[in-house]
Amino acid sequence: ARAQVLVVGGGAGGASVARHLAAEAAGAADITLIEPNAVYHTCFFSNLHLGGLRSLESLAHSYDRLRGLGVTLISDRVAAVGRERRRVALAAGGTLDWDWLVLSPGIDFVDDSVPGWTLAAADLMPHAYKAGGQTRLLRKQLDAMPQGGTFCLVAPPNPYRCPPGPYERISMIAHRFTQVNPTARILLLDPKEGYSKQTLFEEGWQAHYPNMIERLGPEMGGDRVEVRPDRMEVVIDGEVEKVDVCNVIPGQVAGRIIGEAGLADETGWAPIDPASMKSRDDPAIFILGDAAVAGDMPKSASAANSQAKVVTAVLLAEISGNAAPPARYVNTCWSLIAPEDSVKVGGTYEPTPEKIASIDRFISQPEEDRATRLATWQQSLGWYAGITSDMFG
Ligand code: FAD
Repeated sequence: ARAQVLVVGGGAGGASVARHLAAEAAGAADITLIEPNAVYHTCFFSNLHLGGLRSLESLAHSYDRLRGLGVTLISDRVAAVGRERRRVALAAGGTLDWDWLVLSPGIDFVDDSVPGWTLAAADLMPHAYKAGGQTRLLRKQLDAMPQGGTFCLVAPPNPYRCPPGPYERISMIAHRFTQVNPTARILLLDPKEGYSKQTLFEEGWQAHYPNMIERLGPEMGGDRVEVRPDRMEVVIDGEVEKVDVCNVIPGQVAGRIIGEAGLADETGWAPIDPASMKSRDDPAIFILGDAAVAGDMPKSASAANSQAKVVTAVLLAEISGNAAPPARYVNTCWSLIAPEDSVKVGGTYEPTPEKIASIDRFISQPEEDRATRLATWQQSLGWYAGITSDMFG
């Protein structure tokens, strides 16, 4: 009988696995992708929409070509994984049997990780950390801000999706303000001592957006923040401040289905075998993308897509009874600081028994010339086109 492979989540990890398996399994497996949304909006490059540099439509991708490649699409949410009987339950009713399960459900948010913020408040203080409606809402709020108003971003604690993401967002919103609201003020509240590409961002902010951005780290109360969504107030170490727009990026855990299936550890993320991306708790289940504890790899689309290639190779080997090639992973995270001023960080990784370990690393340098930053920007455009066709066909 053909192996039944169910892939849960049609994002950077899941769509990539479905597409590569469909291309390479050559009739040995039935591949089913379960995803509730008909359209996937990429979080990657969504900050460019906030910056006025890219339409939301240009970030939208459908699953039509995956269907054309032979993937069966089920437009629903998995309600229970059913590990014992290897049978998932769908939210709308019905079940599906599996031999192999691939889980790439992304993240969920921790209510009250910022006191006063729960998911129910996301209509007032959006997270915009899952793209689509939330991205549209934040952009609309920013466009409606009064001249000289205050935009506040509450950054998340580690670990979280896309380490440079909040800071690229600050850059893009600052860029937009220079065009439409030059006296606006940006307040960045950060519970962390330091963050990804900090030197590069701070240099860029000084050059492009002098005196617009104020960051309060933990020494200034950035780790003692409470929000009052219905009054548009933030309370910083006991001091109340009125703001006009507040983007709360809360603390995060693996997509809920991971914890519910008993596949998360006490941190809320899923431990995996670094050589295969198989769950440490269940060798018939692969977990990849943001949900997994991927050692030195950051939570990024680039990382999820690279992990998908390892999952595909291991799955094909298991189905055919052959040995899988040794795992090797890559990642690049791009950030746009201002138009045509792009920086990158990335590296290659290999499994050790304990973790996915970094073997080498590269990062853009401070004071690079404009031609270098422009070339990095052009590489990032090529990366976006490449990864989205690798995911969706
Ligand atoms: P996702 O892509 O989020 O996919 C998860 C999917 O699972 C979703 O479609 C969801 O609907 C579905 N799902 C969840 N639960 C269930 C369920 N129970 N049943 C069925 N389906 C379910 N990465 C980069 O590499 N480069 C960047 O420049 C970059 N920029 C970013 C900027 C921002 C502002 C943000 C927020 C993120 C950025 N990222 C970037 C990170 C990147 O978006 C994520 O790391 C990546 O999407 C993770 O892939 P994933 O498959 O784990 O999750």
